[in-house]
Order: sequence, then C-alpha cells, then structure tokens
Amino acid sequence: MDTIKIKIERAAAFKPKPDPATLKFGTAFTDHMFLMNYETGKGWYDPRIVPYGPITLMPSAMVFHYAQEVFEGLKAYRRADGEVQLFRPWDNIRRMNQSCERLCIPPLDEDLVLTAIKTLVREDKSWVPTAPQTSLYIRPFVIATDPAVGVHASHTYMFCIITCPVGSYYAQGINPVRIYVEDEDVRAVRGGMGFAKTGGNYAASLRAGERAEQSGYSQVLWLDGVHRKYIEEVGSMNVLFKIKDEVVTPPLGGSILDGVTRRSCLDLLRFWGQPVSERLITVDELFDAAEKGDLEEAWGSGTAAVISPIGEMSWKDRTVTVHGGTIGPLTQRLYDTLTGIQWGTAKDSFGWTVQV
Ligand SMILES: *Cc1c(COP(=O)(O)O)cnc(C)c1O
Repeated sequence: MDTIKIKIERAAAFKPKPDPATLKFGTAFTDHMFLMNYETGKGWYDPRIVPYGPITLMPSAMVFHYAQEVFEGLKAYRRADGEVQLFRPWDNIRRMNQSCERLCIPPLDEDLVLTAIKTLVREDKSWVPTAPQTSLYIRPFVIATDPAVGVHASHTYMFCIITCPVGSYYAQGINPVRIYVEDEDVRAVRGGMGFAKTGGNYAASLRAGERAEQSGYSQVLWLDGVHRKYIEEVGSMNVLFKIKDEVVTPPLGGSILDGVTRRSCLDLLRFWGQPVSERLITVDELFDAAEKGDLEEAWGSGTAAVISPIGEMSWKDRTVTVHGGTIGPLTQRLYDTLTGIQWGTAKDSFGWTVQV
C-alpha cells in the first residue's frame, strides 16, 4: 500500500560512502532515517523520513530505565540487474508486532511498516552496496519515551528505522566457529521474553559472550534456564544439527527466537525431502552423538551471517570437532541456496523476496 503518506525531508548534503571491504558491521549509517510517534488516544502519527541524526529524549525516558523496547533486523540486497530486494520482510514485521505485544507496546500497522522500509531504502538506494555478498542492513526499533520513572507501560513511543551498508560477512571465506556451552548464565526462560527481539535479552547475554571471547571462542551455546540441559540457541542465532540422517533443531517453546533464517532453513530442507525434527535435544545427547561420530554437521542461522557453520564445541572437559572443522555439504547447500535467493542469482520459488 503505497497510498500511506510519508513526509520526506531530504538531507542538505550527502555523506561519503564507506568502502564495504573495510567496513566494520553496523558502524556507518545512511543519509536518512524513518520516524513515527505514538501517543495514547492519538495512535501512531507523523510518519516521516528525515536526515539521519541524533534524537532528543528526556533522561527520564522510560526506555533508559526499564528497557521497554523492541527491534528487528533485515537486509536489502542488490541484484545483478541493479534492482534492490528484501527477503521475507513480512516475517520480520509480524515478529516485531509479537515482540511489541510481549512488551506492552502498541502494535504497528504492518502495511505502513513495509511502506516505510521500502520508501527509506528507495530514498537511500545509492547506499545499497553493489560488491558481491554485501547488503544494506535495516534496523527498525520502537522505544518507550514517557519522561517518568514510575514503573508502568509508557503512553508515548517512537518508532525509528535506520539503515547501514554492511560488507561481506565471509570476506575471508567461510570459517567454522568454535563455540562453548554456557552453563552458568542463561539468556531467557519460558514466560520471560526469549521469543521477543528486545534489548533486555541481549543485555542478559553479554557477560557470557565476553567470557567466551576471552577464552578464544566466538559464540556461546545457550542451555535452557530451567533444567540447564536442553540446547536453545547459539550466540544470537538459532542452531541446527545434522545427526545421522536427521536435521534437529530446538522447538519454539517461548524462550527461543523464531528466526526467519531458521524457518527458511526448515522450509528448504523439507522441500528437499530432508527429514527434519523440531524437538528438545540435551547437551548430553549432542556430545554423545558427536563422540560416536553421528553429529555430521552443525550450524547457526541468522540474518547477519545467514549460516554460520560450527567447527568445534566445548562443554566442561569435553571438546568435539564437527565435520573435521570444515563446513559440511548440507550446510554449504543451505548457504548457497539462501544467499542465491537473497541476491537474486537463484530462482525464488517460494515467493520470499519483495522488490523495493
Ligand atoms: C534475531 C535473532 C535470531 C535470528 O533471527 P533471524 O530472523 O534469522 O535473523 C536468533 N536468535 C536471537 C536471539 C535473535 O535476536
């Protein structure tokens, strides 16, 4: 629905564009951003595109104190014909509203959000990089802005979309990561906010991430918060394992994020006739399978990396290697197919892409 009126105030001068080859993820933002406000009784109002720049909030703004906020992450991809497309944006927009519901944030009009994303990306289209495997990362988010430190849901909000060009995630080639099973901290519990994309879950995950990095690992394998034995996610990605002939991934039980990349992996695997199972898997079962040689492949899935193969896992005094520390054939096929659809070099038989 392009009938929604979005006011556009163009930047007076355009910034120089960074070289995607040396660009650090998420550090350089485009010329414009999208803003919209909410007030109880008035609803969402004043959708607008303005020059990218600072926003002003009271120090008492609720988001600073009680973390009432949600966000999303998706990408715009430059096709060989020069056009730009999005990958399953409706899934992100619907998920953002599910996150909003959990955090008592009023829902957004889904057509309006897609129109806002498309309009903003069109406005800054020259920022969508053209080098292979590069993209424009899109970060929509909502923050609670009431200037009051009483604990309740805010009556005012700001919805914002910012975008930044990102380089190839695998500029040095796909190197499988070493991960470590975290059995002290947990990121989420059922009944908490694990299924919502909200900053609080990330704040809870930082300490384990830092510890993992200090010990030479790149990600944390999260266990469930109650029994401390079921696998949940890896870092801020979903996780999938190929154990003998079956691909296994933890079920969406409330503490796990319903990843668009996870869902796309499952859709493709089922389409290929690969047996898949969304079921509980204990860390014991996983390491036993690996030690017996039954764990053939393991990978994380998320928008930033698409697919991140796991080469080594450590838990207590046990360390196992997966597929000899190299990417497995099914992992590679998923990566090639997904990235092919995203950059428009492979046929999109599922209707996942949306042209900007
Ligand atoms: C965003 C996110 C993912 C991946 O979701 P995608 O939609 O595939 O990008 C997985 N886990 C967590 C905790 C996340 O925040």
